[in-house]
Amino acid sequence: MTQVFKFGGASIQDAAAIRRLGKLLARFPARPLIVVVSAMGKTTNALEALLAEARNGKTADYHDRLETLRRDHLSTVETLFGAKAGPVAERVEALVNELDQLHRQHASRDRPFHYDQTVGFGELLSTTIVSAWLHEAGMATAWRDARELVVTDDCHQAANIDWETTAKRVRGLAADDGRIRVTQGFIGSTSEGVMTTLGREGSDFSAAILAHCLEAEEVTIWKDVPGLFNADPRRFDNAVQLERISYDEAVELAWHGAKVIHPKTLGPLQQKSIPLTVRSFEDLEAPPSTIGRDTRFDTQTPSLVLRDEQTLLEIRPRDFAFMDEPRQHDILGRLVEAGLHANLIDAGAMRLSLCLDGHPERLEPLITSLCTDYAVVRHEDLTLLTIRHADDALLAALSSGRDSLAERGNADTAQRLFPSTQCQGTWHIPG
Ligand code: ADP
Ligand code: ASP
Ligand code: MG
Repeated sequence: MTQVFKFGGASIQDAAAIRRLGKLLARFPARPLIVVVSAMGKTTNALEALLAEARNGKTADYHDRLETLRRDHLSTVETLFGAKAGPVAERVEALVNELDQLHRQHASRDRPFHYDQTVGFGELLSTTIVSAWLHEAGMATAWRDARELVVTDDCHQAANIDWETTAKRVRGLAADDGRIRVTQGFIGSTSEGVMTTLGREGSDFSAAILAHCLEAEEVTIWKDVPGLFNADPRRFDNAVQLERISYDEAVELAWHGAKVIHPKTLGPLQQKSIPLTVRSFEDLEAPPSTIGRDTRFDTQTPSLVLRDEQTLLEIRPRDFAFMDEPRQHDILGRLVEAGLHANLIDAGAMRLSLCLDGHPERLEPLITSLCTDYAVVRHEDLTLLTIRHADDALLAALSSGRDSLAERGNADTAQRLFPSTQCQGTWHIPG
């Protein structure tokens, strides 16, 4: 039965990490094995910065960033392959040159299109290096271009999957010839072959797409943490690992902003009952977390998610009118048009409050549009706390000493919006 492994940026951030990845894979001889890989380290952020320089016409800064990207990847290749670096270095050079050409060619196109022709090169570079290294380390591998596998619409930067065509293209990927298939996360292409991306952090989703189409036995996402915790272990000093939780619960945590799994990952797996394992690439002996159909453990431990860089918009009709359904419909329609999503919605008689991620390029046009018809008050630099399965005492303890600007709650989820200045430093889950 096919296994799908996904490795994120941290697991391949430099030559030492790629060597460690080779050693890890050598311990998993079962085939077919599909390995989905993100860009190295923070390469996608670097490519976004490169895109900004290209679009701003800052030629010198663009050039510096491009050369840094080239140098960093070539230096990884040289460290890994030494005297044998030539052929891999040539492929890396060719990709960086192609990236440069595409930047120039598409600079006058709209940003989402230009983004998708360029930013996915991080994955093309990383898989080229990783695949060659696995081969060098004695493993039979085949590099596969995800643009020939994952077919999408042309909704650039958040492309939607054409499941039927993708399933047909992916069918041969799990051929039983003993070779590990190494492919890119994050990218796909339209049926006309135009490159698209699936949204930031979308490589988890890529792994789930392939697993769904291949009816894989399991997906494992390898992380720098042992598994899925009830809160980000880097922010909460007493977070505990959730060893078994359901797809439903995991979707809730991911949707509310637990960065460890992309929220779109769970659906394709749930539909085919494929378990998702979250495991440490640093410690193979550490017990992992498994996400599946079993809901028995979901309510045993309260889970917390912090989402930073939030903006709250308090929107009121100008004429002392009610915030009735037609007005709510109008406002939410403008939100959808701006490509934004509300992380919290709270309605009063004459007010609709929306808590949004702080994307300035999408937020500003929305606010301008709303201000033409409504009175809008804006609060910035906020942190949204979402708690699943909290009791009143826990909620009160977490809110103590913090000023809540907006709140929402139902039987299993409570949300509080605080100034980020009151949310700094290490958190402790009371109780
Ligand atoms: P990748 O390398 O696959 O992109 P990420 O960095 O996106 O991995 O995800 C791993 C990080 O997610 C961890 O380092 C951890 O700080 C963070 N994280 C946030 N919430 C959680 C959680 N509930 N459980 C585990 N890790 C979490
Ligand atoms: N490299 C892409 C990103 O950083 C996709 C991913 O890592 O999942 O968003
Ligand atoms: Mg990530």
